[in-house]
Amino acid sequence: MHTNKQRVYLSSPHMSGDEQKYIREAFDNNWIAPLGPNVNAFEETLAEYCGVKYAAALSSGTSAIHLALIMLGVGVGDEVLVSTFTFSASVNPIVYQGAKPVFIDSERDTWNMDPELLEQALKARKAKGQHFMPKAIIIVHLYGMPAKMDQIVEVANYYGVPIIEDAAEALGSRYDEKPLGSWGMMSALSFNGNKIITTSGGGALLSNHKKQVDDARFLATQARDQAPHYQHSQIGYNYRMSNVLAGIGRGQMEVIDDRVQQRRNNFSFYKAQLQEIACLSFQEESDARFFSNRWLTTMLIDPEKSSVTHAEISAELEKHNIESRPLWKPMHLQPVFERYSAYLNGVSEDLFSKGICLPSGSNLSESDRSKIVDVIKQCFI
Ligand SMILES: *Cc1c(COP(=O)(O)O)cnc(C)c1O
Repeated sequence: MHTNKQRVYLSSPHMSGDEQKYIREAFDNNWIAPLGPNVNAFEETLAEYCGVKYAAALSSGTSAIHLALIMLGVGVGDEVLVSTFTFSASVNPIVYQGAKPVFIDSERDTWNMDPELLEQALKARKAKGQHFMPKAIIIVHLYGMPAKMDQIVEVANYYGVPIIEDAAEALGSRYDEKPLGSWGMMSALSFNGNKIITTSGGGALLSNHKKQVDDARFLATQARDQAPHYQHSQIGYNYRMSNVLAGIGRGQMEVIDDRVQQRRNNFSFYKAQLQEIACLSFQEESDARFFSNRWLTTMLIDPEKSSVTHAEISAELEKHNIESRPLWKPMHLQPVFERYSAYLNGVSEDLFSKGICLPSGSNLSESDRSKIVDVIKQCFI
């Protein structure tokens, strides 16, 4: 990404310095084509870090979600339950498959899928008959905050519906000491430019089932059957990560724990500096089981305590060349998804109306952080 030196970004790439060593190896061995030693090593590192047996490095997080749905047999007319409070890439692959998303609202504590609404949706479908059960549940861990995985897994298991974790924002987060990305039957990671680590663009599919990851790799490389000629018995995709980009990923994984710590420090700093302003609140880790990578620090402004809006704060930050964003606009409010059914409780709409994402890069300087806090404080004087 071409960066404007003075501008403070929400989340910009932060290289470790070792990336070029792995890229150079790829060049020295002329291993530029997809696949190769960097891909294999990156996959092993990811699987080990996330506490799963297998990983397939892919071209994006979106492609990982798409392949997970294909592997679970999601097809035309099927339903897939998915968090409404998320980025569109959690949902688009459902529609690629001709299936129908059913949106589930958030609970207040983590801002992620409400296990009670999830249960309502599953119960209603079960009452209509086994044929109406959804094929999968996509759980998103927003801004790195773990969803209430104990309750969600219990409900999902009771109704026998597999979980796909969208852990695109949550590499390095844990619930109950178990890494996010290891809770679902399959999980998706993203290494897009703004995520906690980046390969400029990329993603991965995680699973403990060898066959799923083997099948994903097969589909991701154009579904080429074993034969001397090009032989195909399934529709394939071109979704693999290149050996050059996987070199960036290897360099990034060497510093993942530092990156998590740096982002957590941003959160602690913002909270310590701003909590004296009574109308501001933060996305909290409800208890010791929740460990967020703090991909983005997000903040709510209570309209009953202040007339200052998130848009006004954003505009003020923008004047100082500082990027900020509203929270994700819920999917059930998006024109493209409006016609699908949704289980709502008002939480995601309320959060969307009050929230703002603050610059949260692991390379954010202390002076930038202090400036951001000063600008925000000025808004409330
Ligand atoms: C970034 C993101 C994705 C998509 O990842 P890409 O690598 O950009 O395709 C999916 N879900 C969520 C929640 C994300 O934030």
